[in-house]
Amino acid sequence: MVLKTKEQYLESLKQQKPTIYMFGEKITDRVNHPLLRPQIEVIALTYELAHDPRYDGLTTAVSHITGEKINRFTHIHQSTDDLVKKVQMTRMYARYCVCIQRCMAIDALNALSIVTYEIDKKYGTNYYQNFLKYIEWFQRNDIMATCAMTDVKGDRRLRPSKQPDPDLYVHVVEKGDDGIVVRGAKCHTTAGVPSNELIVLPTRALTEDDKDYAVAFAVPVDAKGLKFVARSTVPRERGKIDAPFRTKWGVTETVTIFDDVFIPWERVFMCGEWEFAWPVVDLFAIYHRHSYCGCKPAVTDMLTGVAALLAEYNGVEQAPHIREKLTDMACTAEQMYACGIAASVRGKPMGPGTYVPDRVLVNIGKYIAGTHIYEEIYRVHDVAGGLAITCPSEKDYFHPEVHPYLEKYLKGVAEVPTEHRVRAFKLAEDLTAHGFAGWIMVASCHGGGSPEAQRITIYRDYDFETRKKIAKCLAGIEPMENFPEFKG
Ligand SMILES: Cc1cc2nc3c(=O)[nH]c(=O)nc-3n(C[C@H](O)[C@H](O)[C@H](O)COP(=O)(O)OP(=O)(O)OC[C@H]3O[C@@H](n4cnc5c(N)ncnc54)[C@H](O)[C@@H]3O)c2cc1C
Repeated sequence: MVLKTKEQYLESLKQQKPTIYMFGEKITDRVNHPLLRPQIEVIALTYELAHDPRYDGLTTAVSHITGEKINRFTHIHQSTDDLVKKVQMTRMYARYCVCIQRCMAIDALNALSIVTYEIDKKYGTNYYQNFLKYIEWFQRNDIMATCAMTDVKGDRRLRPSKQPDPDLYVHVVEKGDDGIVVRGAKCHTTAGVPSNELIVLPTRALTEDDKDYAVAFAVPVDAKGLKFVARSTVPRERGKIDAPFRTKWGVTETVTIFDDVFIPWERVFMCGEWEFAWPVVDLFAIYHRHSYCGCKPAVTDMLTGVAALLAEYNGVEQAPHIREKLTDMACTAEQMYACGIAASVRGKPMGPGTYVPDRVLVNIGKYIAGTHIYEEIYRVHDVAGGLAITCPSEKDYFHPEVHPYLEKYLKGVAEVPTEHRVRAFKLAEDLTAHGFAGWIMVASCHGGGSPEAQRITIYRDYDFETRKKIAKCLAGIEPMENFPEFKG
């Protein structure tokens, strides 16, 4: 069973009994809970479309370990083509559901494939062997996992070991012959609830004093002592028109508490090698910002689509300021995507041969996503008009006494049925003005790291020296023989 079906995925969730609290309730059936099911449906899509012949080779890959056909969300990138396909696949999926939520774990596992290899090279440890056994099992069982990296972090000025409470970053509290015991909490963990496993990484660079915090491992979601405190994007009950997005898809994040959780050694990928905390954080960030270069263009596809549709339904699509806004949205989407594709093409192998995309380009792509989303939403509001928030509910639209009035007065251009226009406004409301809209904004800004984290990386890693050399030669400060060779 290398490619699970949706039903097998749902069954795998039922086999585990994680401890989940949400809105004051202890959840006993995560699969059928109405507030959790829309998120599970998002993940289920990745199992359904892996069997769709239209996407064969995009949603699937060939395992470099077993040679078997596997879900691409369990794959370790073996070429630049794998990196390109990952960005394409992410855009394809996110056009349905905004955030496909299965990227975190595979971004973490690709980072671990390199870092475990490098730690073993330096210390003769067994982490890479642990990793290889784990990834083979992960691929063969088409496991759904997420990455819990971001710690709760307490006072941002202080390193983990200097915090007044030592548990504000996840750390090792006991080491034994069989394994380790970890304590602490992560937050913002997307998709812990619909997962089988969590991949846990450190969240920042560490010093020797922080070595107990240099810990990476995999843990099943129902491990003893692991607790999830969830909140959801609060989906709406399915009706006819209202909230077309939130009646189908959803997201849940958790505060993920490790209350002295035992991790057997074979699931540990780093334990105390503090100087490798930064490489794993950095690589995860590169891979995850690469994912954003696929999903955020898809969000812009949705926003552009609804704005263009409403412009047409309102009869303003030819107005110069409307065309300008739609053009700007197209530019934003394709800039982010171009960064993802170009970063993939410029990818290079590291460690055991895992391909890594270009770090500067993925950071630029994610930076555009995080800083442009608010403007994009403004553009939808401007183009759509105020009915993006004031459109009456479906209960009134279909009320026999009011329907004839609303049918007449909510009409835009004559040739478009009123119901189509109302439906488009309801989608605009769902994506930009209600419920899920807030999530889209905060997720674009902070997900994958806050904008400043990308600026720091871009400034640090961009080749300014070559540019200075060009200027020096052109200004006659250095001879033209020193003009830098173009390397693409
Ligand atoms: C919707 C969503 C989903 C997410 N999903 C996941 C997930 O699945 N797994 C996961 O591990 N993480 C996840 N994250 C976490 C995400 O990576 C963090 O939100 C991000 O790294 C910012 O961390 P923070 O939220 O703690 O904010 P903070 O770190 O508190 O940042 C707030 C501001 O303070 C600044 N700042 C922080 N520290 C310093 C400092 N020392 N010096 C100067 N400035 C500082 C930041 O630049 C930012 O401007 C998710 C986040 C969101 C919003």
